Amino acid sequence: MRQIAIVGSGPAGYYTAEAAVKKWGEEARVDVFDKLPVPFGLIRTGVAPDHQSIKAVSRRYEQTAIGDTVRFIGNVSVGTDVSIDELCSLYDAVILATGAPQDRKLAIDGADAGNVIGSAAFVGWYNGHPEFAQLSPDLSGRHAVVIGMGNVALDVARILSKTEGEFIGSDIVAHALDTLRTSSIETITILGRRGPHQIMMTPKELGELMKLERASPHVDSSDLPPLDDDAILEPGMRKSVTLLRDFAAIPESIHGEKPIAIEFDFFASPKAIELADGKVIAVEVERTIVEAGRAVGTGETYRIPADIVITCIGYETSPLDGVPFDERAGRFANDEGRILPGLYCVGWAKRGPSGTIGTNRPDGYAVIDIVDEDIGSGGRKQGREGFDELAASRALDVVTFRDWQKIEEAEIAAARQGSPREKFVDIESMIAARGT
Ligand code: NAP
Repeated sequence: MRQIAIVGSGPAGYYTAEAAVKKWGEEARVDVFDKLPVPFGLIRTGVAPDHQSIKAVSRRYEQTAIGDTVRFIGNVSVGTDVSIDELCSLYDAVILATGAPQDRKLAIDGADAGNVIGSAAFVGWYNGHPEFAQLSPDLSGRHAVVIGMGNVALDVARILSKTEGEFIGSDIVAHALDTLRTSSIETITILGRRGPHQIMMTPKELGELMKLERASPHVDSSDLPPLDDDAILEPGMRKSVTLLRDFAAIPESIHGEKPIAIEFDFFASPKAIELADGKVIAVEVERTIVEAGRAVGTGETYRIPADIVITCIGYETSPLDGVPFDERAGRFANDEGRILPGLYCVGWAKRGPSGTIGTNRPDGYAVIDIVDEDIGSGGRKQGREGFDELAASRALDVVTFRDWQKIEEAEIAAARQGSPREKFVDIESMIAARGT
């Protein structure tokens, strides 16, 4: 019997569990740990609340989770409640699927000010992650600046723009909806340090900006390269750039009908956040040119008014005691998923924050192939029985998948009209909802 521990119950974690079941069937036991009492990681707390079709993949993870082979062990923090060394002594393989939950830091003056918020916190806030539910961003000003030109920047700009009606059908949490309802934001500047050919935004997400009820996207046509240059782009990227061209062609009369402007500011590298009385008032940027794919400063600077700044410049994995970490890349040091004998990583914890949810599927299958090569038929470790003894000796309050189903039932029952659920946003309420 192979005893496998997976740390993290997001897409990488559950695709890996699925791969283990496919590979070994009844000849394996898989325990999936999560520090939260609720499963599915980024699907619940990262994917935008108005992207329900993406979130639907959790139904697939459920199929993996409900059998006897795979167990969910929620409300157990690896590194605090149980150490990596302890897990490694109990399981034939420990696979870290902990994602990249920390914001990459913007190292400029003023970036520590109150209304400068990283996307992990801001996205966590509108998605009801218990760690960020109390964030309470100040949306009373008129100008928001979103730094970065990836899909997270698009999520943030879209959420800031939508009307209450446009959130029908989403599972945005009530505290976020309440704050957004009173928002005074009129301009959202999306800052990119490089140009239109270097954006990280995908066409579907970019296209959504065209359909917003009260916001319209602005692109200055002089920022766009000659049309012929698009020929060198791969098809997805060409579609995205074509959308930017469409935005540039939107007539003033249409912009005039929409009270919120989403302005794309290319070739603009943030240099400092300007503060007055400790509050954000502007972002100072330096004009750049792109040389050999890199942004190079021109020395010309200007300021963009800002009442709130949200940095969407990528994420890092949280280090764990005793686990080799690649500081530069912001993820575990690994060779194709191998970290140390018996210790592996998968998903963003392995390759950094890139790709879509689906990219984690082949990653999960690949790591199980590697584990299979390394541990053979296993059977050298105590596995889940050993963990259960340890959990009992420490009085850990483990939340099971059945418990989660009860929590979910309560969330569904509490949903406001038109919403699939009203999430619990603190751990105590989640645990209380599982009943006895
Ligand atoms: P991302 O795609 O890597 O984009 C990060 C952006 O931040 C880039 O434009 C980058 O510019 C910029 N940046 C980095 N450091 C900067 C700095 N110091 N100053 C200014 N700009 C800086 O990251 P993400 O948007 O966080 O997305 C993470 C992953 O999740 C991606 O794979 C994304 O596709 C995925 N995702 C997908 C969806 C969806 O499919 N709906 C939604 C959300 C996220 P440079 O290119 O110049 O470095």
